[in-house]
Amino acid sequence: MKSTSIITVITIVTFLQVFALKAEQKSLDSLEVKVMTSAGYSFGTIDLLLNLSEAYLNQQPQRTLDLANNALELATALNDLSRQARSLFLIAEANRMKGENVIAFDYYFQSKKIFDQVSDKEGLAKCANSMGSVYSLLGDYTSALDFHLTALHFYEELDNNLGVASSLINSGVAYGKLEQKEIALENYFKALEISTRNDDLTNMVSALISIGNVYWYDKDNTEALSYFEKALATTREKNFKGEHPGALLNNIGNVYRDLGDLNKATEYYLEALKISQEIGDQNHIAITLKNIGIANKEIKKFSEAIQYLNESRILAENIHLLKIQQDALEQLSQTYSLLADYKMSMEYYMQYSFLRDSLLDEEASNKITLLQLKHNIREKETQLTITEKDTALKTSKVRNLRNIIIFISLFAASLIWFLWKRYRSNMRKNEDLQQLNGELERRVEERTKMLQAENEQRRIAQEQAEIAKDTKNRFLATISHEVRTPINAIIGFCDLAIKTDIDNEHQLNLKRVKDSSEHLLAMIKDILDYSQIESGKMQLKITSFDFRKLIISIINAYYLDASSKDIKLTHKIDDKLPRILIGDPDALRQVLYNLIGNAIKFTDKGTVEVKVDIAEMIPDSGQVQLNFSVKDSGIGISKLKQKLIFMDFTQVDNNASRKYGGIGLGLTISKYFVELMGGKISVESDQGIGSEFKFEIALQVDNSKVETKTEIKTDKKKKLHLLVAEDNLLNCHVIAAFLDRLGHTSKIANNGKIALEVLSKEDFDAVLMDIEMPEMDGIEATEAIRNNQENVRNPKIPIIALTAHALKDYEEKCYKAGMNSYLTKPIDIEKLTEVLQAL
Ligand code: ADP
Repeated sequence: MKSTSIITVITIVTFLQVFALKAEQKSLDSLEVKVMTSAGYSFGTIDLLLNLSEAYLNQQPQRTLDLANNALELATALNDLSRQARSLFLIAEANRMKGENVIAFDYYFQSKKIFDQVSDKEGLAKCANSMGSVYSLLGDYTSALDFHLTALHFYEELDNNLGVASSLINSGVAYGKLEQKEIALENYFKALEISTRNDDLTNMVSALISIGNVYWYDKDNTEALSYFEKALATTREKNFKGEHPGALLNNIGNVYRDLGDLNKATEYYLEALKISQEIGDQNHIAITLKNIGIANKEIKKFSEAIQYLNESRILAENIHLLKIQQDALEQLSQTYSLLADYKMSMEYYMQYSFLRDSLLDEEASNKITLLQLKHNIREKETQLTITEKDTALKTSKVRNLRNIIIFISLFAASLIWFLWKRYRSNMRKNEDLQQLNGELERRVEERTKMLQAENEQRRIAQEQAEIAKDTKNRFLATISHEVRTPINAIIGFCDLAIKTDIDNEHQLNLKRVKDSSEHLLAMIKDILDYSQIESGKMQLKITSFDFRKLIISIINAYYLDASSKDIKLTHKIDDKLPRILIGDPDALRQVLYNLIGNAIKFTDKGTVEVKVDIAEMIPDSGQVQLNFSVKDSGIGISKLKQKLIFMDFTQVDNNASRKYGGIGLGLTISKYFVELMGGKISVESDQGIGSEFKFEIALQVDNSKVETKTEIKTDKKKKLHLLVAEDNLLNCHVIAAFLDRLGHTSKIANNGKIALEVLSKEDFDAVLMDIEMPEMDGIEATEAIRNNQENVRNPKIPIIALTAHALKDYEEKCYKAGMNSYLTKPIDIEKLTEVLQAL
């Protein structure tokens, strides 16, 4: 009974298997073909074909096409999707080179589909880029932009900097054509930054030229020239060859032509001609010949003009550069007309208008091609969905049948297996289980080890990163200290020397030295702040402060600068504004310093107005919303450039920057601080009329009494006796001289240890404490005083840190050690007076 049923099951299984094999006969046949083919060829052969095909692309597109078709055949036979996609892409590229845009698009579409299937992002990016270029060529810049942005997205995901830069430039071109010049410019600047960082010469030069072009179209010849010249200097410095030099020299020539300097224009055109001839760049030879012709016509060298224009016309016709041919014909007609040879002029005019019409036809035909292209895509997409559905249906039918067979086979096999092996399996069960357990344990152990190793690696990497970060910060602190100390001495001595009895010329010279040193100091501070921001270390330090006093001290600091330039510097603070507010006064001071400094810098004469208004008192929260405005009547900023000025290291007007100085960080830092304070900064400006920088922030109102950090209050007029702990001899003299001028007496201690000794023997009103000193530094000395380790007479004596370190870390360290105030060098005499008066 049992054996009969087993035989029945086996018979059914065999029948069904034969049936299934018949159903798959077709694919078996094709498999045979595949096996046969793969015996003769390998993937290496296809790669070879593809590489060759790619190499021929620029010179012999037909050869590219043949080789890519061969590669496609083999890749299809070997069922290699990746290589199929690459072949299809090259077939598309070759067709594009041959001007067969519709066919090209068809192939791009097919390759894109497969790149998508195999998740090849590089391939997808390349496809999108080329498809965008086809659209650009046909004049549909919206679609072009779509594709270039897709390419950009993929390249960004791949971290492919070259691709990112070139996509930014391509999309910039499309934005430019769509009249979005600001975005175009932003893209070019980004591309410039990325390509410079990666030493990617091609994109760097492209970006510079593109930026120059935007300015040129905007009729800003000077700015355009500066970017073209930068591009030229880069190509020369790096001995860069390619199509750029010819184009670039032509662009520079065009700018000079617009500026009316035709001799200089011709000089550049001739050099462009020479370079284009050297590298055999026919396109630029034709363009340059035409330009030289035009320049000659304008300086009335008519026979030379005719010669160059004719050469350009003939070459342009040969290489099918119809636009240039048309321009040359028009110029020839005009030149003959100037020579009063109306017959020749008419003849060229006829040729010109004939060509113009045919170019218009071409434009129309481009539009038709575009329509055809879009129609094809739609059809393809519909077809693809239908085919996909069809295939899915067929596959699911075959799969169902196969599943039934597999199921029955498995069922039968397991039945037989079960009857025959039941006994033995029972015997081996325990043994297997043990083995399995052992295997499992081994795997767990292996995995644990691997995880431990990974964790260790991660920990080491983290430690290394911490060390690198620390090293950078220490380096910055040291540089800050090392540079600030000598500048401090320079400024201090200048101050002293200016006040002595010297003649005007020497005084003037010393003032210049002092100004330059202060300028240098401001720059170092900007760079330090910027690197603090970069490392994410910059934090607000919230405290109570006298708002009006802060604003007035800033205005006072600029008062002299303004009056020396014939600028009326005014300020208006809302009367209703509470006196004491809570916020970060240093951050606020920095922002206003930058904005007022810029306003004065970029105004030759006129007014700079600083205004603070209450926008609203925020009920319950105790906050007040403030509107700040710094308005000047200076050179102004063009609309195009206003978007760029808050970017790092951006100085939108090269000429102005050369004239006025600066490193392009002030606004970046200001924007950062305003945003850190929860506000927003903006600019409104008209070129030649002036600029207004505005920002709004909310600050807390402090209704309690103002706390001073120093507890001891004495008579303000009292002359103080101060201990100056400072190791640098120059600084000692400068500080002593300042204190003397303020009517105080002082004593010097050259390190912390000596300071402690002196403090245990003599009474002082306060200590001015340097931080970095030999033997015992300022922090240690302060801690020793506060803990009364050396029996100092007054462990609560006010201690004022006086240091060249400008980093926030140091400030925190000082307060932590028990200091009462913190002043940075070079000494700001007003601040010093203020702090001493508060004692
Ligand atoms: P910089 O150190 O060069 O002044 P900023 O970041 O402060 O750097 O300013 C960036 C650029 O913005 C300046 O180089 C200048 O071109 C422009 N700018 C800033 N403020 C003004 C202003 N008040 N008037 C005209 N141009 C300004």
